Amino acid sequence: MAREFTEPRLVVASHNEGKVREIADLLAPFALDIISAAALELAEPEETGDTFVANALLKAEAAVAGAGLPALADDSGLAVEGLDGDPGLYSARWAGPERDFDMAMARVQEKLGDNPNRRAYFISVLSLAWPDGHVESFEGQIHGTMVWPPRGGGGFGYDPMFLPDGYDVTFSEMDYVRKQRISHRAVAFQKLIDGCFRVP
Ligand code: IMP
Repeated sequence: MAREFTEPRLVVASHNEGKVREIADLLAPFALDIISAAALELAEPEETGDTFVANALLKAEAAVAGAGLPALADDSGLAVEGLDGDPGLYSARWAGPERDFDMAMARVQEKLGDNPNRRAYFISVLSLAWPDGHVESFEGQIHGTMVWPPRGGGGFGYDPMFLPDGYDVTFSEMDYVRKQRISHRAVAFQKLIDGCFRVP
């Protein structure tokens, strides 16, 4: 059994505005006071882990240490089958310091070349850490296909290239509310909520 979260405040340990917005929206029913790591001016730790879980834990624990409050971190990425799981843990880094995802998507396309296997999945690991050292982690995935050229103007990151199974629109073309219901982060979130939260 996962530990129930009963604190009034929670730090979202991310400096990515797109992610903080999605996480805050998903947690809206629980009437928590949510503060982002960026608003607290917490330093972004180096993602030195060699798994998504290790990196999510490292980010959550760094925010707990910096803020003295419980913290929730997400480590996520895109794994492309034809690229042996790349960009994977390096999904953000492929976009460079400018966070240029047009460049990162072009790199995916260039490396895939004419490889017929364009299967891919997004993965999200959420780690919730308490100041007493207790942690809980949950994982979600969504599978799909990489399209080229990129399609759509919404979302962030690799969204314009990702066509989720069962849909004929990319994550970027998809209605925000629908993406929020089906995404890798939504799947991990549902597990987090089932495990740690009670609707007030
Ligand atoms: P990190 O979890 O901060 O290491 O960054 C994960 C990276 O994976 C993001 O910067 C995006 O490039 C990519 N990513 C994660 N989730 C999504 C998503 O929902 N849509 C598009 N790209 C995503």
